[in-house]
Amino acid sequence: MLDDMSAKSITSDPDSPSQWHQTAGCANHRDMALLSINPTTGATIATYQAHGPAEIETRLALAGHAFAGWRDTDVAERAAALRRVAAVLEQREDLYARLVTEEMGKPITDAHAEIAKCATACRYYAAEAPRMLAPEPVVTGENRSWIAFDPLGPVLAVMPWNFPFWQVFRFAAPAIAAGNVGLLKHASNVCGSALAIEEVFRLAELPTGCFQTLLVGGAAVADLIADDRIRAVTLTGSEEAGVSVAMAAGRALKKCVLELGGSDPFIVLEDADIPLAARRAAEARVVNSGQSCIAAKRFIVVEDVAETFTRALVAAMDALMVGDPFDPRTQVGPLARADLRDEVDAQVSATVAAGARLLRGGHVRPGPGFFYEPTVLEDVRPGMPAFDEEVFGPVAPVITARGVEDAIALANRSRYGLGASIWTRDLARAEALAHEIDAGLVFINDIVRSDPRLPFGGVKRSGHGRELAHYGIREFVNIRSIVMASPPGGG
Ligand code: NAP
Repeated sequence: MLDDMSAKSITSDPDSPSQWHQTAGCANHRDMALLSINPTTGATIATYQAHGPAEIETRLALAGHAFAGWRDTDVAERAAALRRVAAVLEQREDLYARLVTEEMGKPITDAHAEIAKCATACRYYAAEAPRMLAPEPVVTGENRSWIAFDPLGPVLAVMPWNFPFWQVFRFAAPAIAAGNVGLLKHASNVCGSALAIEEVFRLAELPTGCFQTLLVGGAAVADLIADDRIRAVTLTGSEEAGVSVAMAAGRALKKCVLELGGSDPFIVLEDADIPLAARRAAEARVVNSGQSCIAAKRFIVVEDVAETFTRALVAAMDALMVGDPFDPRTQVGPLARADLRDEVDAQVSATVAAGARLLRGGHVRPGPGFFYEPTVLEDVRPGMPAFDEEVFGPVAPVITARGVEDAIALANRSRYGLGASIWTRDLARAEALAHEIDAGLVFINDIVRSDPRLPFGGVKRSGHGRELAHYGIREFVNIRSIVMASPPGGG
């Protein structure tokens, strides 16, 4: 544990982790406190004073000023800056991983992987941005015509706590590579991570104001979106937050990207390798202790293999190591907040009350911290919370399908459309089925994951727009057509 990160130990040493947990006081604050609570123990780690109007104004003005310089830098210079950002992340991986584990309870091995993945994304965009942003010539019959990809300006990023570094970097790396500047409004329970990310950009010596954190609650977001200096907004979060942000962006007529919730189907057909599918099912469900938008959340199994699969899934969930997230062997840690754990518990109870059978778990783990017992439910059907809603915890509902057509119909009977996986040995059939599922990502015989090289995003109420790959860098650019007429008289 990071004993040196107490709220009392205020320091101005930029190499000391305690700076993230100092009280971020400022003039004109709205007297709002943001709390970091250790979900493993329930103890308060630190209290942060929210930024007030004066501090917000200073940061917005700084973002505008920084953009005026950054937009004119050469893409090679921005790529070099991203390589420095990657180097800072790599050098300080251990420190940041421990911060994340302490603040939101992610198993430490996963926290290390998260920080490393952020560095990979920075290096990916450092390598690829010059190609992705290169002007595209177009033959129009004029002297010269081309498409240029110019930055938009300061982009507001409203981010969730579940991957406190990765969610931010998968927005920031392409946006900054494209010449934008970033303003982060992170989830209120991960202010330490929010300040640490600002520090990463500072230590990498990006110009002041290229990336800043705003310590504000969700209620401040609409006003920020309305501010003329903010040119676009991206949100990763819940459906409810998506509606609010989309409405504010609509009122201000600003571009927005929404990465929202999911209830990904994990479809097991009769010819699948059942032991493998069951093992991977448990893994897919408990990724990030069950708190991932692309965790498999509905296990749709054709009836011929349902019993064998379910038995193997229960065994795989039994074998999981649940406990102290600082223990490198731990696979499932606590949920990030007490209210989120209670919500999962309520969804499970309501699903059982509606007729599902509980095969394991189904309760809060006794003792300190916000732990929830890995859970398997069977006989889950549409109309039950574990089918209709997103369950953000280690809960695996098994849904039996009459056959492949029924399985696809059940998969699509969701308001979400983020990811999906299909498990079968018939690859030609899987390829055809991949096009029938309402989802932005379909993995065949593998679990859904994000990769800087692949576009990431959903359909339906999982949101719109894409992150990562060249699609992500194109979200926050002015795709500008430039036409230079042929000289009079031709030539
Ligand atoms: P959340 O409650 O929506 O919070 C996400 C962010 O939005 C936080 O910064 C939050 O600020 C802010 N926010 C909340 N309500 C808002 C509002 N009405 N207006 C403006 N901002 C608002 O979501 P969460 O519980 O932290 O995260 C879990 C959700 O995120 C799940 O649904 C998950 O599937 C989704 N998610 C999606 C993706 C994806 O790529 N599609 C990735 C990860 C997570 P405060 O903390 O201050 O409330």
